[in-house]
Amino acid sequence: MRTEEVDVVVAGGGTAGVIAGLAAARNGARTLLVERQRCLGGQFTAGSQGAWVGFSDKKNRIVNGIAWELRDLLRERNAIVEADPETDVCFLYDPEVAKVVLNEMLGREPLLKTYFNTSVIDVLKDGDAVVGVVIQSEMEQVEVRSKVVIDSSGDAGVAAKAGVPFEIRAKKDIQPMTLIGRMAGVDMDRVKQYYEENPPVHDHHVPPAWRDYKTFPGFMHYGLRDELENAELPEHLEYLRNWLAIFTSTPNPGEVTINCSGAIEAHSIAGFEDRARQEIVSQSCLYDVAEAMRRYVPGFENAYLSVIASQLGVRESRRVIGDYKLTLDDFRAAREFDDSIGRGAMPAGAHTPDGVTMTVYDLPAGKSMAIPYRCMLPKGTDGLLIAGRCVSYEPPVANCIRNMAQCMVMGQAVGTAAALAVEHGTTPREVDIPLLQATLREQGAIL
Ligand SMILES: Cc1cc2nc3c(=O)[nH]c(=O)nc-3n(C[C@H](O)[C@H](O)[C@H](O)COP(=O)(O)OP(=O)(O)OC[C@H]3O[C@@H](n4cnc5c(N)ncnc54)[C@H](O)[C@@H]3O)c2cc1C
Repeated sequence: MRTEEVDVVVAGGGTAGVIAGLAAARNGARTLLVERQRCLGGQFTAGSQGAWVGFSDKKNRIVNGIAWELRDLLRERNAIVEADPETDVCFLYDPEVAKVVLNEMLGREPLLKTYFNTSVIDVLKDGDAVVGVVIQSEMEQVEVRSKVVIDSSGDAGVAAKAGVPFEIRAKKDIQPMTLIGRMAGVDMDRVKQYYEENPPVHDHHVPPAWRDYKTFPGFMHYGLRDELENAELPEHLEYLRNWLAIFTSTPNPGEVTINCSGAIEAHSIAGFEDRARQEIVSQSCLYDVAEAMRRYVPGFENAYLSVIASQLGVRESRRVIGDYKLTLDDFRAAREFDDSIGRGAMPAGAHTPDGVTMTVYDLPAGKSMAIPYRCMLPKGTDGLLIAGRCVSYEPPVANCIRNMAQCMVMGQAVGTAAALAVEHGTTPREVDIPLLQATLREQGAIL
C-alpha cells in the first residue's frame, strides 16, 4: 500500500471538518482533508440545510472567525438572507452556492490538499495514540501518516475505529433523522398572507428565539398539524397528520426548505437493510409532504419538490466520551470555562424520538455558554481531536451544540489546536490553552 505523510488529517469535510482543514492549513500545518462525498460541507450543503443557526445570543453576535468569513462570501453572491447581522440568530443561505464558495476557500490554501470521493476506512495506532488513517478511493488504498487526526465525520466513525469510548442512545430515545428537501414555485406572498390570517395554534414548542422575527430573517413556519387537522386526507397521506415540519424561505424567490422531524425512525447507525429502507422511506415522505402542501396550503398550489438532499440528515448518533462532557446544567448556568474556544446560545433541548415536538431550554437574551476544548479531546487517546455533532455532551444540550455555527466554531478550534500541536511538538491534549485562545482571538474567533 502506498504511504503519504502530512501533519494533520481531517476525516470528513463536512460542516466542522471543512473549517478545521482551513484553520489547520492557515496555521502552518500540511493538511489533508478527506471527504467521501462529491462536495464539501456535509450537512451544511449535501444535507440541503439552509437555516444556519447559532450566530447570536439575541443581543450580540457570538460567532465570528472563519464561519463569518464564509457568511461574507455567501453575502457577496446574494446567497444569504439576513435582517440585522449583529443580532440575527440565523442566516438563511443557499446550500448550492455554499458548495462552490467552500471549494474556492479551500483552493486558496497552499498547505491544504483535499480528496473527494474518498473514505477513511481505518486508523493507524501506536499504543494509545492515533498516528494516521487508511483511506480508500475508487482507485486505491493509501496509508496516511500524520501527527494529528481530526474526526469530523459526524458519526465519530474514526474515533470508534480507534477504540475511543462513546455513547449512543437506544432507538427509542435517540433523535429522529430527517431528509431535507426544497420546494420551488411557491407564491410566498400568498403563503405569508394565509398564515397571517390563520395564525398557527400548534407551534407552542417553538422557542422564543425563533418566534422573534427580529432575530430570524425570512419566513419560518412550524407546520403540518394546523394545516392537516381538519383536512380530508387521502389514506396515503394520513400518517402526516401529527408530524412536525419546519418550512423556511431561502435566498431564492418562491423556494422553501422542508425539514420534517418525523421523517424516519431514529436509529442512525442501523445496518445495511435498515439504512436502505430509511433512505427510500425518507425520499417518498418528502414527495408526500409536497403533495400535502400543494393540496392544503394556499400559495403552494403550483409548487413542486425541486430538491431531495443527497445526504440523509442525522441529528444524533455516536457522541465521543471526552475529557469533559457538557451538561444541561452548564447550559442553564451559561457557564464559562477556562479552556473556552467559542460560544453557543441557541436553545438547548432535542427533537423527541417520535418527531412530533422538541424539548426546549432557552437562555435569556444576552446570555451564552462557553464551549470547552476538553469536549473535543477523546478520553484516553492521543493524536486525535473531535469536532462537530459527535463531541462530548449530554443529550439535552444537543440543540445548542450541534448547530452548524457551533460545529464551525469547534472546527476552527480543533484545526488551530492541531496546527499548534504540530508546531510545538506536543499532543493535542498538551496544547497551551492560553496560546490556543490568543491565536483563535487573533484570527477573529469570539471566546
Ligand atoms: C435534519 C436536520 C436538521 C437540522 N437543522 C439545523 C438547522 O436548521 N440549523 C442548524 O444550524 N443546524 C441544523 N442541524 C444540525 C447541523 O446541520 C448538524 O449537526 C451539523 O451540520 C453537523 O456537522 P458535522 O460536521 O458534525 O457533520 P456533517 O456536516 O454531516 O459532516 C460530516 C462529513 O464527514 C463525511 N464523512 C463521514 N464519514 C466519513 C469517512 N469515513 N470518510 C470520509 N468522510 C466521511 C461526511 O460525508 C460528511 O461530509 C440539523 C441537522 C439535521 C440532521
